[in-house]
Amino acid sequence: MIPRIEKSRHTPAWQTALTQAVGSVDELLALLHIDAADPDIRHFNRDFPLRVPRGFVARMEAGNIHDPLLRQVLPLQEEDRLHTDFLPDPLREADAMPVPGLLHKYRGRALLTLTGACAIHCRYCFRRHYPYASANPLSGNLARAIEYLAAHTEIRELILSGGDPLTLTDSRLAALTRELAKITHLQTLRLHTRLPVVLPERIDDRLLAWLSEQPQRVVMVIHCNHPNEIDTSVAGALGKLGQAGALLLNQSVLLKGINDAADTLIRLSETLLAAGVLPYYLHQLDRVQGAAHFEVSDSAAHSLMDSMHAALPGYLVPRLVRELPDFPGKYPLWP
Ligand SMILES: *Cc1c(COP(=O)(O)O)cnc(C)c1O
Ligand code: SF4
Repeated sequence: MIPRIEKSRHTPAWQTALTQAVGSVDELLALLHIDAADPDIRHFNRDFPLRVPRGFVARMEAGNIHDPLLRQVLPLQEEDRLHTDFLPDPLREADAMPVPGLLHKYRGRALLTLTGACAIHCRYCFRRHYPYASANPLSGNLARAIEYLAAHTEIRELILSGGDPLTLTDSRLAALTRELAKITHLQTLRLHTRLPVVLPERIDDRLLAWLSEQPQRVVMVIHCNHPNEIDTSVAGALGKLGQAGALLLNQSVLLKGINDAADTLIRLSETLLAAGVLPYYLHQLDRVQGAAHFEVSDSAAHSLMDSMHAALPGYLVPRLVRELPDFPGKYPLWP
């Protein structure tokens, strides 16, 4: 008995929240008072099951099957329809890995996929078919990845990605950054994470202490697609991250039925600014198998950019980009 009580006292609240995420379609629909008999809904998907933290569910509107937060996580039968242009590995990332899990595609920066785990499963995710089990540096290749980074002095920025790097425990993050701190040509540490938005509990005192100890400039690119994702708990977490010294940027994916309206995108930029975050990228969807129903045409994307440009200061207009397998950076689509 006693050891169990001790253990639970030391489990951070965010880890408890993570394990309590909703993992069943029927439970999610019941929480939202939505009829589960809708034939468009796919109730089971073993390869990429539903997963959504309860705090994120609380920001959805009950009774609304078109809620923009719900649409991001609700599995649909549509996902099974095959489209010839939507592939399992649309970016051919497997080609750009000098060490399993380390992507070095762009000059000056490299990207480490630390874990396959995410707090939320976004149905449009381009990594939904990613071979995380075999391409995870922390499961045996970390020393090789560190060696590669140390040898390549042109790499100035290391991007921690995933999955979501902040699903790792504080001690694993600390073990990694102790090694990175020895590589003096790394000037910037960037984290791509959705956790400040979907699990703001993660931004606790221990994480903030770790963040402020880093010798590099820390850039945090959060991932928020719709202004409804930012409630007071998220704004509070973002405020603390800013105070701890992180430069906060946002990337969104342009998603049909979720954020493909000018007023939504304008409101998103304004809401982000109020929380101390600047918009960075607006991504055209990666053409991954199972996500075709989220695609917005380039011409529609252009007119959305025109509307944002007309309504917002330049620093609140994100860059519209598409990722291409053979281009040396994100491919700009606008103006
Ligand atoms: C997106 C990405 C980066 C970062 O690109 P930025 O334009 O610097 O944000 C780096 N490496 C890989 C493999 C990427 O996909
Ligand atoms: S959090 Fe990011 S990596 Fe994880 S499922 Fe969502 S889009 Fe994909």
